[in-house]
Amino acid sequence: MNETSSHSQEIHIAGFPICPGIAIGKPFFFSVVDEKIPEFSVPDEEIDKEVARYYKALRNSQKDLLSLKKRLQTEGGSEAVAILSSHLEIIHDPLMTEKVEEAIRSKGKNTEYVFKMVMGEYEQRFSKITDQFFRERLKDFQDISRRIIGHLRKREKSSLGSISSRSIIFAHELAPSDTAEANSDFIEAFVTRSSAETSHVAIMARSKGIPFVSNVDFPEFSLTQPPLVIVDGRTGQVIIHPSKETLQEYKQEKKKLRIIVKELQKSTFLETETIDGYRTRLSANIEMFNELDALQQYGSEGIGLFRSEYLFLARDAFPSEEEQFLVYRNIVEKVEGHPSVIRTFDIGGDKFGNFHPSRYEKNPFLGCRGIRLMLKEKTIFKAQIRAILRASAFGEVSILFPMISGVPELREAKAIMDEVKAELSAKGIPFARNIPIGCMIEVPSAAVTCDILAKECDFLSIGTNDLVQYSMAVDRGNPHMSYLYTPTHPSILRLIKMVVQEGNRANRPVSVCGEIAAAPHFIALLLGLGVHELSVASPYLPIVKNIIRHLSIVEATQLADDVLSLSTAEEVDKVLAKAYQSLNLTVITT
Ligand code: PEP
Ligand code: MG
Repeated sequence: MNETSSHSQEIHIAGFPICPGIAIGKPFFFSVVDEKIPEFSVPDEEIDKEVARYYKALRNSQKDLLSLKKRLQTEGGSEAVAILSSHLEIIHDPLMTEKVEEAIRSKGKNTEYVFKMVMGEYEQRFSKITDQFFRERLKDFQDISRRIIGHLRKREKSSLGSISSRSIIFAHELAPSDTAEANSDFIEAFVTRSSAETSHVAIMARSKGIPFVSNVDFPEFSLTQPPLVIVDGRTGQVIIHPSKETLQEYKQEKKKLRIIVKELQKSTFLETETIDGYRTRLSANIEMFNELDALQQYGSEGIGLFRSEYLFLARDAFPSEEEQFLVYRNIVEKVEGHPSVIRTFDIGGDKFGNFHPSRYEKNPFLGCRGIRLMLKEKTIFKAQIRAILRASAFGEVSILFPMISGVPELREAKAIMDEVKAELSAKGIPFARNIPIGCMIEVPSAAVTCDILAKECDFLSIGTNDLVQYSMAVDRGNPHMSYLYTPTHPSILRLIKMVVQEGNRANRPVSVCGEIAAAPHFIALLLGLGVHELSVASPYLPIVKNIIRHLSIVEATQLADDVLSLSTAEEVDKVLAKAYQSLNLTVITT
């Protein structure tokens, strides 16, 4: 979907809309060192600065190596120390110094480009030599080149959390930990070459209310004279160098959106019920606990999903029991009067942080993820359960287990909980003895056996993001396969219906906490299928409430019956779009 057209100076790039909203601002190129290095000309008067930048990167690389070497010497890694010594020698080699300086001056191009080019020539020469010794030297050479490039590009690659001027982030790809660190006060929008709608990166952007467009094949920008950029997260348009007229038009549009959002927020005190009186619980999906402050403003009836793994995704250390307890207690107290569902760590898949003992699995989404990992890492699991149980003495809280594939995992998790409960009781530490336990229904085997699971837990929460991924056998983070990632596929609708029916039969509440719960077209269908609770990223609460307040449950039930008889996702989409249009709403999502 990357058509590029230009009107005078203006460049329009069509991408895939991930998160709505409009942003106008300057780009910030956030990259990793292996990415394509931009090439641009440097005016004569700036050449000295480019050369100085090069020497600074050399000095910084040398500093890194010296401190690494010192640490390794104390730890006794003699082989690694020898490698670092050879890296230090390479840094002092005239090849690394004069040759590159000369080339920057003669070519008049940016340092990283020239450096990469010169290094590329040497690498080619090295790679032709078959001698083992030189092959090893090539590796050293590549390693040190990468380190220097990393320093040269440092002003682009830093933590998103450290960005302190309003910017539109351009990146090849982002990791959930990158978006977890992003501060929405400064980050106006994300534009990436690759990312998909229900990836955890997208989920984070949505919960922070940051517009996001992906699948954009954007050009390299000059870092010294970055252009003005407009990002339209509703349509997926990215406009570089907008004309005065376009800029004016988008400024107006942005103003209008602000008014609509304010208008919608006025409904926060109103009931979440259809025009014919069907009540639905509307709760929030939370990733970072600093999102809690905004909950009241958005009118949440509690937390339907706290993705606890985000507590450490953006950090180096794993949170202690005490630290977790303080966070959970804070959550429980902040949403006082409403329940909070804390999901135990769902690590793996595309969420790793710096903690995962088997991080290098070939197939991480099908590997040791969620409850599977926690049942192996019992000490970590028990510490988390203890922290949640201790917090349960301060308000209404439930525990939710992710990635349950069948009843044995649920039983094992419950047995561990019982152990922790016994330990706490023995020490006289207070906790809610009947704390509700829930199962995420996101693996097809769990959906199909939900009647069995429902007998052994207190509630079910349908995670459609994964349910679609695992039912359709399509990676939720792969934008090239998104044509198959279809939540409206008849198989998914049947699974949701089945889980709701079985939940009702067993008298167990069923909620939907995947991204479809916030998708405007989907809401009538979910209510029609009998879902009683929707849990969505907090900025979407007023939007979803507004839609529910315009629906009739009788019509929604009829709609569900109608679409269940259809054969393809495409047919279902058409019917849902038509039903949605007939509501005549003004909302910010397309
Ligand atoms: C889901 O899979 O729908 C879900 C809510 O969990 P997550 O997006 O964190 O995998
Ligand atoms: Mg999931």
